[in-house]
Order: sequence, then C-alpha cells, then structure tokens
Amino acid sequence: MPDAATMEKIVALCKRRGFVFASSEIYGGLGSTYDYGHYGVLLKTNVKNEWWRAMLQERDDIVALDSAILQHPRTWEASGHLAGFTDPMVDCRACKKRFRADHIDREELCPAKASLPKSEDRRHDLTDARDFNLMFKTFVGPVEESASVAYLRPETAQGIFVNFKNVLQFSRKKPPFGIAQVGKSFRNEITPGNFVFRTREFEQMEMEFFVPPDDAQRWYEHWRQARYDWYIDLGIRAGHLRLRDHDPDELAHYASGTADVEYLFPIGWSELEGVANRGDFDLSRHAEFSGEKLEYFDPQSKERYVPHVIEPAAGADRATLAFLVDAYDEDELGGEARTVLKLHPRLAPVKVAVLPHLRKDGLPEVARDVYAALRGRMQSEYDEGGSIGKRYRRQDEIGTPYCITIDHQTLDDQTVTLRDRDTLLQERVAIDGLADELATRLARPWRSPKA
Ligand code: ATP
Repeated sequence: MPDAATMEKIVALCKRRGFVFASSEIYGGLGSTYDYGHYGVLLKTNVKNEWWRAMLQERDDIVALDSAILQHPRTWEASGHLAGFTDPMVDCRACKKRFRADHIDREELCPAKASLPKSEDRRHDLTDARDFNLMFKTFVGPVEESASVAYLRPETAQGIFVNFKNVLQFSRKKPPFGIAQVGKSFRNEITPGNFVFRTREFEQMEMEFFVPPDDAQRWYEHWRQARYDWYIDLGIRAGHLRLRDHDPDELAHYASGTADVEYLFPIGWSELEGVANRGDFDLSRHAEFSGEKLEYFDPQSKERYVPHVIEPAAGADRATLAFLVDAYDEDELGGEARTVLKLHPRLAPVKVAVLPHLRKDGLPEVARDVYAALRGRMQSEYDEGGSIGKRYRRQDEIGTPYCITIDHQTLDDQTVTLRDRDTLLQERVAIDGLADELATRLARPWRSPKA
C-alpha cells in the first residue's frame, strides 16, 4: 500500500517541475483549486486524447459533443440535481470547520480544544447534519433575481441528454450509439482535498451510450470491462486497479447496476470512474420536463422506445493523478537517488529530449538540427543547460521516455546515443530515420517496470 508521504512527494514534484500549482498562489491560494503548468497541461491533454481515441477513433458508434457549462435551470430540476444533489454537512461549533457527515471521523480531536485537560471531551462539537446543495449558483444577465438564477454544471452528462434529439437527427446514428463529452464541471464540495483528487472545479470525461432496453445489461457489462481495460492498457498496474460493484443499497433508485473503477491511491482505494446502467431515467425525465419526445423509432421493427443508458463517467484530473501516482518511482543510479516518472510513453508529456553532450565543438548546432527534425513528429525538448547527468535526471522527473545525446562521435558517424528511461540502456542509433525509429518504439505495448 502506498504511504501518505508518497503523495507529498508527488505534490512537491508537481510543483518543482511545473505540472500543477496551487491556484492564485500570490494571494495565498484559493482552497483546493489548482492550475496546471506546462507539463501538467501536456500530461492531462494526453489523458484526454487517449480517452477520445478510445471513444471516437477506435469505434464508429460514438460521436462527440461540447455542450455549454450554463444550461437552462429546468435541466437540473429534471435531472434531480436541484432537489437531491446534496451532501449531509455538519459544523464543529468549536473550530468552525465544516465536514461531510458521512466522511467525518467522530472520534477526531478538535484543534480548538487542544489546550483542554485530557479528562475533557476534546472531540469536535458537531451540529446535526444539514443537506447542502453542491451546485454553484450564479445569475444570467444584469439582474440578480430568482428568475435569472443559473447553475454551473455539476456534471457534463446532462448536456448530452438534452442534446439527444439533435444528435439522433443529425448524426445518422441509431441505438446502440453513444455521445461523448469532455469538459469542466463544478461542485461546491464540502471537504475537497487530496490534491487534484477532489476539487471544486474539475474536468470530466463522460459518455452516454444509448441502447435498446433488452440489450442494456450486455452493454453495461461491456463498458464495465472496457473502462477497466483502458487504464490497464495505459500502464496502470493491475494490482493497483480494481472494479468494485455497488451493493444494492448503494445504487441510485433508477440504476440497475453500477461499478466503480478504483485505484489504490496513497489515501486508499478510491473511485476513478463510475460505470452505471441508468435505465431510461434520464431521457424520460427530460421528456417529462421539456415536453419533447426523447425516444427512438425503429423503422424496421416499427417499434418506438426510450433507449436505456449506460454511462461511463470519469474524471480527467483524478485519472491524471492516478497515472502520476502509479508512475512515481525512486531508484538509485550510480550511487545517487533518482526520481523518475515511469509513465506510459503515450501519456508522457515530452517524448524525447535532445541533449548536446557539450556546449561547444559544433555539438549544439547538430543537436538543434536533430531537435528541429523531431519536433514536427512528436513533443520534443532541447536542453543544453547543466551536466549531462543533471539533464537526464530532469527528464526522468518529467517522465520523458527517451533522451538523445549528441557527442563527438556524432560528428564522425552521424549516430547519436539513445537512452531509455526505464531500462537505462544506451544504444547508438543513426540520425537518419531517427524520428521513425522513435515513433516505432513509442507505439510498442508498454508495461510498468515498477514492481
Ligand atoms: P465521489 O464519490 O468521489 O464524490 P462521484 O461518485 O460523486 O464521486 P460522479 O458524479 O460519478 O462522482 O463523477 C464521475 C467522475 O468525476 C468521478 O469518478 C471522478 O473521477 C470525477 N469527479 C467527481 N467529483 C470530482 C471532484 N470534486 N474533483 C475531481 N474529480 C471529480
């Protein structure tokens, strides 16, 4: 089981190497909001692109959508979010902190009571639980009145359901088919935390798969497995990933099956993604609230039905964190400690770094030519600052799978040293055909070399 100190090291690495910063840091930060820096953007973009690839490129039964964050407030009435998207909240009368009633350890000591003698009750002094709606409220237009209230979407899924009719009409798809969306969602979480695991503003990757009712169970099982496999294919170690089926008492009233893909984070097993068999709940509710018919007419069987929905709902930030945690490793190299991100090459922010061995003798010029030839094909970096060992370590820390070194032999025979992040093997390869060689290596199946 990974320990909590690992999480601190990953947070420190993320800051040191510019993956993730605390948001508004110069003003002291804003609780649990984060900004992604250069490598963080590249990594999270790769995660999202892999999701799109699995949804769109590798299949022909899913189409893309990008719906607005602000939606008609009736959307949230129909979806049940207005009435039911609440968490039970309790306050501590002593330290004034707010907790989720279902998360708080009632034996936890209250910091405001630290000076009390041990014989006194030093636990939090908690209020009764109250329901707290997690949606962020705002106003559309200049007048702040109830008629102009709108909400920042707490999930991307509803934007898909309200577009069901449009997509059905214009995409020339029929059930079984899916609509996929990636975008920001907002939840006024009572107790956010654990870095980007739970924040108030985050990105989701959600897909709603519409199927004939009789096929729902089969498709549920398909997506349950497919989503587990996606993380494994991207290098997550099988011992750290599991599918957990919800107990019947955990299921939403409309769902006939839900499974969470869980990762063994330093905080323990936690949800990465939920896969749910939602029945016809969503389309029926939006049909009821909007007065529109949200159904499919099968011209062959002459049957009209409300499709059932299978939903895999993932978080881009949570997945990115899982990939980081799974990749983080420390080993020893030449008697020195090395920190390395053993990321799947497809996820690595930078694929190759080009390093002249010395900053003289024409080596930087050749290195720049090599770099110029590579960067049109893949995310590449050029670095000539510091000792070669230091530059390797910098690349290891951001998870770059390959480093190319240009040295004096390069000038003689037009070969370079190719260093592999995981095996540390160094080979001579020709500059001619280098981009193809790297592309081939990057496309190979990859398994984490971590134990
Ligand atoms: P949790 O139980 O952790 O609050 P949830 O079951 O409410 O999550 P869903 O509504 O199923 O989450 O959302 C789908 C996915 O969106 C989650 O599996 C997670 O990856 C991501 N997600 C949800 N809330 C957050 C958040 N506050 N911060 C980051 N990611 C989130």
